[in-house]
Amino acid sequence: MARGEGIRESFLPELDRFYDLLLQAIEFGDPAWLDPLLAEWVQARTQTELEDEEASLPPILNNLLLVTYEITHESLNEKDAMSVMGAVLPMYTHALEYSTRQETQLHIDHISSELEKATNELERLDRSKSDFIAVAAHELKTPLTLIEGYTSMLRETLPGEMKLTPVDLYLKGIDSGSHRLREIVDDMIDVSMIDNDLLSITFQPIWLNRILGVIAQEMADYVQERNQILDIHPFPSSEEMTFGDGERLLQAFRNLFSNSIKYTPDGGKITVDGRLLPGFVEVTITDTGIGIDPEDHQRIFEKFGRLGNVALHSSSKTKFKGGGPGLGLPITKGIIEAHGGAIWVESEGYDEDKCPGSTFHILLPMRKEPPDDRMARLFKPQVEGTS
Ligand code: ADP
Repeated sequence: MARGEGIRESFLPELDRFYDLLLQAIEFGDPAWLDPLLAEWVQARTQTELEDEEASLPPILNNLLLVTYEITHESLNEKDAMSVMGAVLPMYTHALEYSTRQETQLHIDHISSELEKATNELERLDRSKSDFIAVAAHELKTPLTLIEGYTSMLRETLPGEMKLTPVDLYLKGIDSGSHRLREIVDDMIDVSMIDNDLLSITFQPIWLNRILGVIAQEMADYVQERNQILDIHPFPSSEEMTFGDGERLLQAFRNLFSNSIKYTPDGGKITVDGRLLPGFVEVTITDTGIGIDPEDHQRIFEKFGRLGNVALHSSSKTKFKGGGPGLGLPITKGIIEAHGGAIWVESEGYDEDKCPGSTFHILLPMRKEPPDDRMARLFKPQVEGTS
């Protein structure tokens, strides 16, 4: 045993146990005698060894086999040595297989527990991000209301001779700035509601063509400013009544339209189309804009998933590449999903020169009745009237 070079002193009693068990295993013809000891050795590996994937049991077992071979050949004649090795080898083979299996399992357990820790940490971070958004939004609301109130009072009480003077212009500036801030704060509140599953959807009769028409009107000036074309094709079912939250769907489609305008260069085109699928309607919004890298197709729907350099963004809602805080798409996704729908994007990639464009797909269930019983009672006459 002294020949086992490299085997630590402290390991010697363990080696005695190993050889005792090996003898028992040979005597009873059952290699499983070694299992408890091997399992103990595998479990004894430290955290650092697991992280560093340090030397495992098989090389130690190989060494032991070598030592056994040498000792038998030195102390026995050729024939006896062969017969001892014939009995020992199957035991070693089993020990190797068993310890490899145990180690693999230990590794898998270790990796799973590390992954679980990382996931928990990520969830904790995401929760604190979400809590921060909710708290910040509510804290911002009070001073913002004051600014809005006083600005409007000042504008209303401004003496006639001061209209169209620099003071009037400054007040307009404060007004439009606080309006934009209000939109951002509202978005922050929406995102935290979606995060906490608190977004409530009020199902009422809606018509998709009307919703798209309202947004087209709202966006007409911006589209004209940017010299773009907005083409809304009438598609099957767009004029049919379905149940949904009109306000929330307006908000979702407004975000998508404003993104298409923002991320499409001047002179580009935005096309809205759709098709009827069994139980669903699929609306597509296609632009001839800068496109989105396939790697980012999921990320853009996460909060603060805005792409590109923050410093290069302007904060306009319709100017070319004028970025916002990256809350629009997560809110849109939250609204669509709260309707039982889905949203995804298709784009060949991001290229500001070639402009490969992007297509956003919005899948919405066609509901002939509201999912909520109370609403169903309320709208029953109307539903019957339309069919
Ligand atoms: P933002 O406030 O930055 O517009 P959004 O959540 O609306 O945030 O969008 C997230 C990111 O997705 C944007 O910053 C932009 O990089 C990308 N994106 C969204 N819509 C489009 C589009 N139609 N074309 C190209 N990129 C887009």
